[in-house]
Amino acid sequence: MPYAYLFQCPGCRYDIELVGAKEFWITPAGERADYEYPEPDTYEWPIRRVSGLWNHVWCPACRELRHLVIAELPEPAEHPVQAFLLAEAEGRSGDEVGPCPACGTLTLHDLEGQPCPRCPEGRLTLIGEYET
Ligand SMILES: [Zn+2]
Ligand SMILES: [Zn+2]
Repeated sequence: MPYAYLFQCPGCRYDIELVGAKEFWITPAGERADYEYPEPDTYEWPIRRVSGLWNHVWCPACRELRHLVIAELPEPAEHPVQAFLLAEAEGRSGDEVGPCPACGTLTLHDLEGQPCPRCPEGRLTLIGEYET
């Protein structure tokens, strides 16, 4: 399951949620987007299928959330578990980081002690971890 880390600035309460191994799907426009599970007992058509997993990471230079693909299936999967099996087979655990696609700076998975993007003196601190 994907898991999330919530960091917050004690000064201004700005918070940032980073997620590891989150499912994504390919939208009809051909773009990757977070996959949301349908509500139980609802029927959706066309059925959305999971195409892979990505991490929500933070670029300290852009001060923006970025997405790092850690597993991508050649074909969208019937069941999301296939994306997790692929990630596991490739040794991905959800804490990977990579260069920011916009500026090339190495993104961050852990923001503990990082400067707050909103206020001059704040330092981010981990306030919660949970499965999503
Ligand atoms: Zn702050
Ligand atoms: Zn960047």
